[in-house]
Amino acid sequence: MDIVNLEETRAQEIKPYVYDYTLEDWQEWVKTIGEAGFRAGQIFDWLYVKRVSSFEEMTNLPKSLREKLRQQFDFVTLTEVANYKSQDGTVKFLFELTDKNAIETVIMKHNYGNSVCVTTQVGCRIGCTFCASTLGGLKRNLSPGEIIAQVVKAQQLLDATQERVSSIVIMGIGEPFENYDAMMKFLKVMIHPKGLNIGQRHITVSTSGIVPNIYRFADEDTQINLAISIHAPNDALRSKLMPVNRRYPFADLIEACKYYVAKTGRRITFEYALMGGVNDRPEHAEELAKVLKTFPMAHVNLIPVNFVSERNYVRTPRNDIFTFQRILEKNKINATIRREQGSDIAAACGQLRAKHMESGAR
Ligand code: SAH
Repeated sequence: MDIVNLEETRAQEIKPYVYDYTLEDWQEWVKTIGEAGFRAGQIFDWLYVKRVSSFEEMTNLPKSLREKLRQQFDFVTLTEVANYKSQDGTVKFLFELTDKNAIETVIMKHNYGNSVCVTTQVGCRIGCTFCASTLGGLKRNLSPGEIIAQVVKAQQLLDATQERVSSIVIMGIGEPFENYDAMMKFLKVMIHPKGLNIGQRHITVSTSGIVPNIYRFADEDTQINLAISIHAPNDALRSKLMPVNRRYPFADLIEACKYYVAKTGRRITFEYALMGGVNDRPEHAEELAKVLKTFPMAHVNLIPVNFVSERNYVRTPRNDIFTFQRILEKNKINATIRREQGSDIAAACGQLRAKHMESGAR
């Protein structure tokens, strides 16, 4: 390797990110470098309350400490490659990470506030047959800081109009329960009262059904909402639509969900993407009702499938969606039809990144 290349390699060396750490981690770090404990709180405040983008701006820290931070950590750079604004106010961002991999983040406007949808992995290995996120497989996990940076960035954008991020959904690209530790660190930072202070009940994590981690999450003792991408009322059909069902069969998934409800006393949202002629017939609704009736409380979120050009699924006609919903409700299962946001801007999971990759990017 010649000298020029060597220097290039050094320049590209990636340091840990400032957003990779909880307040407790910072407390430990300041201790190890011999600084006073209260410095940790100051750093955390600069990152999440004042939301600065450089160490130079952390003016109440001694210069020597700022220098130490600069030497050891990097800010996450999310380079905006594109943004798409929907007529309903939803904005979808395609961001490039330091290593040029692309991720998606969405800000959704609701009448009660702004919700941010975050990505947890570059790509996905779950292989759901209707989903665009999984088309190129899994490239890598995001670090906690790379997930956190998406919310900080969204909040920085909203700062311009004095708005705040009021809720978070972990429903972007990737399977959060396959990047469990990073997801948990992300959550800890998001809910911290000395940081962005997002209410736990305003955060939802969605999983395709990684059973062991449903148990683990149930035992975490949080108020964070859990959503399960169920999409089918039985084992055979679910295996066809979601290969993950062969790893963690339907019955095991349902058992894990029951454990979660018993342990936390919280209801679960079941996401059900309706695919024309595949899983959207009245008999599917009856069968789903039978399964969910065994829960003390369950909520079904019906999602009209988003068209993905690489996939063949078609939408369920409006009337059939209502029929499906009525059957669930007749069985005393609460069911809502997801209000679609951003479908005019290809806001379904992974669609932007998939398009971006077609043009030769990562
Ligand atoms: N991997 C997690 C997080 C993704 S959440 C999970 O599977 O739950 C995004 C939700 O959108 C999931 O319920 C997913 O199954 C659903 N989804 C994916 N592709 C879709 C499509 N084309 N139309 C409608 N919903 C889709």
